[in-house]
Amino acid sequence: MANLILILGDQLTRGISALNGADRERDLVVMAEVHDEASYTNHHKKKIVLLFSAMRHFARQLANDGWQVHYQAYRPDNKHQSLEAVVDEQVKQITADRVITTECGEWRLHEQIDQWHDRLGVPVEIRPDTRFIAGKDEFAVWAKGRKQLRMEFFYREMRRKTGLLMTSDGEPEGGRWNFDAENRKKWTGKPPAPAPFRVEPDAITQEVIGLVDEYFSDHFGTTEDFHFAVTAGDAQAALDHFMDFALPCFGDFQDAISDTEDWLFHSIISPYINCGLLDPLAVCEAAAQAWYAGRAPINAVEGFIRQILGWREFVRGIYWLNMPGYAQENRLGNTRALPWFYWTGDTKMRCMHKAIDATRRNAYAHHIQRLMVTGNFALLAGIKPEEICDWYLAVYADAFDWVELPNVLGMVMHADGGYLGSKPYAASGKYIQRMSDHCANCHYKVNKATEEDACPFNALYWHFIDRHRDDFANNPRMGMMYRNWDKQKPERRDALLRRAGHLLTNLEQL
Ligand SMILES: Cc1cc2nc3c(=O)[nH]c(=O)nc-3n(C[C@H](O)[C@H](O)[C@H](O)COP(=O)(O)OP(=O)(O)OC[C@H]3O[C@@H](n4cnc5c(N)ncnc54)[C@H](O)[C@@H]3O)c2cc1C
Ligand code: SF4
Repeated sequence: MANLILILGDQLTRGISALNGADRERDLVVMAEVHDEASYTNHHKKKIVLLFSAMRHFARQLANDGWQVHYQAYRPDNKHQSLEAVVDEQVKQITADRVITTECGEWRLHEQIDQWHDRLGVPVEIRPDTRFIAGKDEFAVWAKGRKQLRMEFFYREMRRKTGLLMTSDGEPEGGRWNFDAENRKKWTGKPPAPAPFRVEPDAITQEVIGLVDEYFSDHFGTTEDFHFAVTAGDAQAALDHFMDFALPCFGDFQDAISDTEDWLFHSIISPYINCGLLDPLAVCEAAAQAWYAGRAPINAVEGFIRQILGWREFVRGIYWLNMPGYAQENRLGNTRALPWFYWTGDTKMRCMHKAIDATRRNAYAHHIQRLMVTGNFALLAGIKPEEICDWYLAVYADAFDWVELPNVLGMVMHADGGYLGSKPYAASGKYIQRMSDHCANCHYKVNKATEEDACPFNALYWHFIDRHRDDFANNPRMGMMYRNWDKQKPERRDALLRRAGHLLTNLEQL
């Protein structure tokens, strides 16, 4: 009566449901670095290093705890290059009675695993992923009957459910659910942003870096200066570092963008939460404790908790409720190819260059760079959702389909017709100027719109407004934009549309 327990690369926690009730003497834990998973998209080199190294450390920890572990390390000439082939061989090897795993984070793999019962000839038990605060069914019940889903209402449910930042009377701490209005300050260099938490690569990580440099050399990004945590202990230290040095200012500068600082006051923990090195609820509890202890203000702590308890859970619910159809959505009918500079950073637009260059170096860019710079540009330029989704899935260390897809397809591209967000996050260069110091260093002039050297975001913004009148003119949150557009002189509108048309046919040259 032996079970084969499959643990995936984003399930690196001893509390993973697949291990519940397992027998260390009898059962076999299987983990595998396989070509199919590492190469189905152009994953950033640092993302592969992070996941392979974290998997190796976790497997070693399980073995130290007394588990029997079969671990396949990556080799290009491995006999088995897919998870199914590795599992199939091990099922036969130990004549397993059952395969047990925790539900994965991607529809593509979910569909494959769903067929293993028939293909491998043994029962396959897929357990819920209890790391999430809201179960899939719970989200489906909440969403039922609602035409549009709004994160804010779901978030309040989650606050009530967990008691996070709630008074004993069931009211939100600080008297409000949301302190976002206080979280939009521009950062002018003061207070200085803390240095990011660093872990120097140990021997295991160095070996993986060598492997990735050798076999994944054509992938995006670089392995240089790899400093992510790869164990739960170091991920916890990264979280502590954030709580001590960045959380107090997290709220104030949550939406700020800097020409000189890559990380500002962000936590840089999404790669760790997503692969299992940190537990999302424990992270929220630690933040709440910081507020109760007077170590961080309410606008910072509430804003931070909302990202995890609200947005993270919300997008996951949306993903599973709507896949596989969600990935095909393209309600704005976009057809334009992704410009090549998304891969090189080779553009005169300073904000885009800086966001893409940070992405290439770090496998990280913070939320506002993703949403209001690279995302906003893709929305204004009408890039095909599939292409921009592939880009985001590849380039960030925290990118997994369940979280990347709703953020890009729904939040950024509005390709789901407003199911996830009530209005598109379209913005002209003015927004980027207000929130950053990029424009002063840019080839383009943010205060111009129609001239040769005018900021491309400006004319593209009005072109977006104009071409999607049927989609948005009746949206109460967009009415003012249309009134502003209609108020402009016809010659001015023509000039803006001409300039945008020129930009759209010459995107690669920007
Ligand atoms: C276009 C786009 C693509 C994105 N792709 C991903 C992705 O592939 N993986 C990913 O984890 N996040 C993604 N996000 C959300 C967010 O940008 C990242 O979670 C965040 O930048 C990670 O950095 P951090 O840990 O420093 O976050 P912080 O700013 O410190 O926020 C704290 C935590 O909140 C959570 N969080 C914040 N916003 C979101 C959100 N919108 N959705 C889900 N979780 C959120 C993350 O776990 C994050 O670690 C995307 C956002 C956009 C706009
Ligand atoms: S001027 Fe326009 S393109 Fe240049 S940094 Fe500012 S917003 Fe970006």
